[in-house]
Amino acid sequence: MTEKPKVAWYWCASCGGCEESFVDLAERLLKVFEAVDIVFCPVAMDFKREDVEKLPDGSITVALINGGIRLKEHEEMVKLLRKKSKIVIAYGACSAWGGIPGLANLYNLDEVIERKYLEVPTVENPKEVMPTKKTIVNIPEAGIKAEIELTEPLPVLLPLDKVIDVDYYIPGCPPTPDVFWNALQALLSGNLPPKGSVIGASQKSVCDECPLNETKPEKILVKEFKRPDKAMAKPNECLLAQGFLCMGPVTRGGCKSLCPQANMPCTGCFGMLDGIVDFGGKAISYFGSILDYSPLEEREIKDAYEKVPDWVGVVYRYSLAASKLGHKARLKKVERIKEVTEI
Ligand code: SF4
Ligand code: SF4
Repeated sequence: MTEKPKVAWYWCASCGGCEESFVDLAERLLKVFEAVDIVFCPVAMDFKREDVEKLPDGSITVALINGGIRLKEHEEMVKLLRKKSKIVIAYGACSAWGGIPGLANLYNLDEVIERKYLEVPTVENPKEVMPTKKTIVNIPEAGIKAEIELTEPLPVLLPLDKVIDVDYYIPGCPPTPDVFWNALQALLSGNLPPKGSVIGASQKSVCDECPLNETKPEKILVKEFKRPDKAMAKPNECLLAQGFLCMGPVTRGGCKSLCPQANMPCTGCFGMLDGIVDFGGKAISYFGSILDYSPLEEREIKDAYEKVPDWVGVVYRYSLAASKLGHKARLKKVERIKEVTEI
C-alpha cells in the first residue's frame, strides 16, 4: 500500500482563525483525512516537539504554518519543520506578511508589553504584574520547588519567509475554505506553480469578482475618504466610488469579494496582486489618484487625508511586517521583562 502524504500544521502568533478555516472545510474534512496523515498539529492533537525531532529529515510532505514569528519558540519550531518538510506553506496573512499582529512593529517591545499588560481598557492589573523570563516557585509546606521558563519574544514580528525558506503562500485572514481546498487539490495532485507563488486564490483583483464592479465608473473621483464606522454605505453601489477606502482594486481575489458583498470595504486580507512591490505604497498612491482636487488645493487635500486617523492601519493592515517599511520600532534593550521572579 502506498503511504499517504504526511502533513504538519503549526501555529505561531495568530488568533486561531486559520485553524477555524480548516474546520470550515466541513464535510470535505473527511476527504482530507482519507488522503493524508497528520503527523503534527498541536492545536488539535497532543503531539510534542520531540515527535517532530524524531522524524527523518524531509519526511513530512507538507508543513502548513500560520501566524507570524514573534517568539524564539516560533523561530526554533519553524526551522525544525523546514528541516523535516519537503514543502513549507505560509498559511494566511499573518504568516505570509505579518498580518494584524505585525502592526505591533510600529512600537518597541516595552511599549507593546505596557499596552498589553497595563493600558488596554479591559485589563485590571493594579500590582503591575509583568511577564518574567524565569519564575521560581517554592512552596516547602507542599513540597513544591519548580522553575517555569517563558520563551523569549523577538524584538519585532517577522513574516515566515524572513526566517525560513517558504515554497508557497495561501492568502487570507483567514483563507476561505474554498481557497484552502483549491490549494490542497494543487498540493495533492502535484500540479503546482513555480516556487514562491500564491496558491488557491486568483490572479485577478477583488474588483474583478465583485458584483458592485458593474457600478464602478471608469474614472473614480471623490472629494473625501469615508470610513464604515462614521458613514453608512449605500447598497448596490461601488464602495470606492462612494468614497470608502476599498482595497479591492489592488488586492488579490479568490474570496469571491466577501466583504463588498456585505457592503463593507475590502481591507486587503488576500494581499497584493502579482507585480506590486509594496502593498501599502500601491494602495496609498491609488487612493491619492482618485482624490478630486488640483495639486494647488493643498489645504483640501490635507483635510481629506487627516480625516483618516490611521493610514498605516488602512493600507498596511496585513502587510506592515513584510513591507519596505518593515518596522518603525526602535530596537532598544527590553526593560519590561525581568529575568527572574521568585514566589
Ligand atoms: S466595492 Fe470595492 S471591490 Fe467592489 S468594485 Fe468597488 S472598489 Fe472594487
Ligand atoms: S473582500 Fe478583501 S478583506 Fe474581505 S475577504 Fe476578500 S480580500 Fe479579504
